Amino acid sequence: MKHSILARSLLLLCVAAGTLAGCAPVTQRPAVEDKAIAEEARKQRELAWQDLQEDLARLYRVSYPILARGANFCEDKVRFSIGVRIGNAQGVAKEFRETAARLAGLRDELQVIQVAPGSPAERAGLREKDIILAVEGKSTQSGEGAREKLAAALEEAAKTRKQLDFKIRRGSAEQVLRIELEPVCDYPVVVNSADAINAFADGKQVAVTRGMLRFVRDDLELAVVVGHELAHNTMGHIRKQMGNAFLGTILDVLAASRGVNTQGAFGNIATMVFSKDFEAEADYAGLYFTARAGYEIDRAPNFWRRMAAANPGGIQQRGFGASHPSTPERFLALEKIAEEIKAKKTAGKDLAPQLQK
Ligand SMILES: [Zn+2]
Repeated sequence: MKHSILARSLLLLCVAAGTLAGCAPVTQRPAVEDKAIAEEARKQRELAWQDLQEDLARLYRVSYPILARGANFCEDKVRFSIGVRIGNAQGVAKEFRETAARLAGLRDELQVIQVAPGSPAERAGLREKDIILAVEGKSTQSGEGAREKLAAALEEAAKTRKQLDFKIRRGSAEQVLRIELEPVCDYPVVVNSADAINAFADGKQVAVTRGMLRFVRDDLELAVVVGHELAHNTMGHIRKQMGNAFLGTILDVLAASRGVNTQGAFGNIATMVFSKDFEAEADYAGLYFTARAGYEIDRAPNFWRRMAAANPGGIQQRGFGASHPSTPERFLALEKIAEEIKAKKTAGKDLAPQLQK
């Protein structure tokens, strides 16, 4: 934030006079009433909440099909899902509960917040704002911890059943929906609050910063990011890179930065990066994940080009250091990967990455 010239010169004046403490304001500003401030605070909280809900919904909508269609490649890290986000007021930070109640109707009972397109829940007719009353005849709880208990109950039920009966309330009517359970990669994709344009994998989940969510221009670009980070997880890069002793989080400043430059669009964020081979591997397998979810990947290489342009410090010729893939090299490799995937699609083949024997 820049001080205005006036403010700066006033400050300088005070400092020059050596009386900083006694330097009272000299302008006569309009008075603001407390009531109006409270009202404005409420509006700003609403905006902040809505903004976050949009980010959460977008990331879930884009990532769910990637996690579901990629399940074959997640081996033992698979769980079962019906493709919904469910929550209640207690899952919202205290200062936003009133806002959540007013804008989304979130209260103590478990409520459907979002239904992923193409998910079993959507096929069964579950809708946003439906209240979950019972699963397989067992009443769900409400209040603190209800969501976690439901998740645990679903996990348990999934061991023996392929579909579950959900008793719901919509408006004033109750009904039962039978919903299939679908295997999905058990690497939840979450929103990280940082402003830097970044995404990361830690072997357990994938995080995408709000800075990245602002940077991506459309769902395809976001899907490319999620696919790339998911690939780091499925290929065990964190374990391989860090050794078993320390499973740390790797901030994967995508493409361009490569530890070369932490300035500019990427902000001052501590950066640990994967090796060149792991990056190339995540680009390769990641684009397959993205394509499997039905995204048209033609424009994917161009996204990495945009990433490079956002942080030109990372643009290097081939061979810059031994471990730094240059962004031009990366872009050209991605074009080839996209061609390989398209050829398989045209031939009606399964979109599976080629693994070395
Ligand atoms: Zn990466």
